[in-house]
Amino acid sequence: MNASRIVVVGSLAFDNVETPRAKVDLAVGGAASYFAVAASFFAPVAIVGVVGRDFPASALEFFRARGIDLEGLQIADGQTFRWSGRYHENMNVRDTLDLQLNVFADFTPQLPASYRQAEVCFLANIDPALQLRVLSDLHRPRLVAADTMNYWIENAHSKLIELLRRVELLVINDQEAYQLSGHDNIVKAARAIIAMGPRHVVIKRGEYGAIHFSSDSVFAVPAYPLEEVVDPTGAGDTFAGGLMGWLAKQGNLTIAAIRQGMVYGSVLASMVVEDFSFNRLRELDQEGIDKRYRQFVALTQF
Ligand code: AMP
Repeated sequence: MNASRIVVVGSLAFDNVETPRAKVDLAVGGAASYFAVAASFFAPVAIVGVVGRDFPASALEFFRARGIDLEGLQIADGQTFRWSGRYHENMNVRDTLDLQLNVFADFTPQLPASYRQAEVCFLANIDPALQLRVLSDLHRPRLVAADTMNYWIENAHSKLIELLRRVELLVINDQEAYQLSGHDNIVKAARAIIAMGPRHVVIKRGEYGAIHFSSDSVFAVPAYPLEEVVDPTGAGDTFAGGLMGWLAKQGNLTIAAIRQGMVYGSVLASMVVEDFSFNRLRELDQEGIDKRYRQFVALTQF
């Protein structure tokens, strides 16, 4: 069976990143970039987003070379979205130092006709009003998944609640899950989020891995223990890309597929953090993925 096509909407960015040991300026990033590159190892991906004229042609070439459809990517007059962040010694914690919306400020997603039949959709972290707009332009999506962040939980709460009623799978980090649910216990938080609409919640826990909840199933996957993390930026979106790519390839949302997908997501996330931007994924092939997948199996077998 052919893998279903995934439409992703989200940011494409220039990131300035500082970790306790390294620093990079103008690294190509953004949630949609990381997601699309990761998902493209398993399924065809189509991006909806916007970049400025300063966005590097080499990055667009790389996306195309991975088979990523860019028809829904607008190239606008102005500068690409910019994000600057600094990681603490504990790299699970980061501060946003600066955020410049630039071309994102006036962004209205436009779905090309060729995207509208897509069966799988990932609404990456972006204004819930825009997430809803993309969703309503899809004819009959079979699997809708979304991410969000503290800013939208605080500032666009009612739109987010409206969105959650239409989402099958929510992929968010632990702090956001606590904030959204009002609980500081992960099980209670997941139960409360399921009551808001999504049948499945996957909570990302940084270096502690990820945990899936549905009404009758719980599954946890660790993060791969690495001796050195160069840059954690994009790990969450890469994880979501691997997970959704795998689900699109399987064509179903069984518990078994979600569990395997979470392992593939963790495989790719464990690699993306070994270098800046998505550089580590540039030379990755199926053999490299399979090798770390086996290491995950060994890590969790008892
Ligand atoms: P992650 O580390 O997976 O949470 O994702 C980091 C990516 O999200 C970076 O490449 C940023 O460019 C992007 N990002 C950071 N803040 C925002 C925001 N407010 N809206 C959209 N994308 C963002």
